[in-house]
Formats: sequence, C-alpha cells, structure tokens
Amino acid sequence: MNMRCPNCNKEMKESSKFELRDCFDEDGFDLDFAYMRVFVNECEDCKIRYEEDQYGGPFGGERKWILPEEYKPTEKQIKYAKTISVTLDKDIHDLVTKFQYWKFIHDNNDEYHKRKEEEYQEQLRDISDTLQEYGIDQYDLDIFN
Ligand SMILES: [Zn+2]
Repeated sequence: MNMRCPNCNKEMKESSKFELRDCFDEDGFDLDFAYMRVFVNECEDCKIRYEEDQYGGPFGGERKWILPEEYKPTEKQIKYAKTISVTLDKDIHDLVTKFQYWKFIHDNNDEYHKRKEEEYQEQLRDISDTLQEYGIDQYDLDIFN
C-alpha cells in the first residue's frame, strides 16, 4: 500500500528518479558522487514529498520530507512539541506537517499543564517539609501565599 499524505491522508503517488549524490562509506569517508535511485512519494494535492534513496544506510542514505512553506511547522511549534514529548514521554517522530504539530500540541496541552502543576505542587511540598524540619512556618513565607 502506498504511503499516505501526512496533511490530507490521501494516497501518495509513487515514482523514482536518479540523482547525483555524495556518497560515504561506513566510516564516513567521502567516496565520490554517484547516481542513486531515489524513491519519491508525492501528494498530488498538497505537493508534499517524501524522498528516500536506495541505500538508506551508511552510503549517504537519506530520507527526508519536502514540504511547501505553508505546511511547514514553525520553530515554536517544534520546540513546544519537543518539550511536551519529553515531559509526557510521547513519541513525536511521526509529526511532519504544521497541522500535525498543531494537533499534537492541542491534544496534549492540558495534560502537559496538569503535569507541570503537579510537579510544581510537589516541589512546594518538598520545600514545606524541609521548612518544617527546621521549625519554620511555611505561611510566614511569601511563596506560599
Ligand atoms: Zn496531501
């Protein structure tokens, strides 16, 4: 089955082409330029492309998404999604387009803030416990009021 477009979910059109690319061996030494077969999947509506060359391994193999400007996620979205993914331990490797990033952030934002609030409350409890050990009343301190 063909790949599906990450933006509109339509089946992408497969093709292949030969392209002159820089090749490397396993140790990262530059071998030479060589023609490689590159497999291309393209959405005819969105013009979103996915390219993967025939080696896909140590020989300079490459897989990449090529997105029209309007479908590219913003730096801010990428950063925020990464923060959420680390905090909530969620995988974001499948995210490609702006809308996918937007949806991921939208779907996880409440949980993220809840988790952050819990972490904050826990820190306050830890501080409070420590203060009690020293015989200090937490309500004398501004941060708890
Ligand atoms: Zn599409």
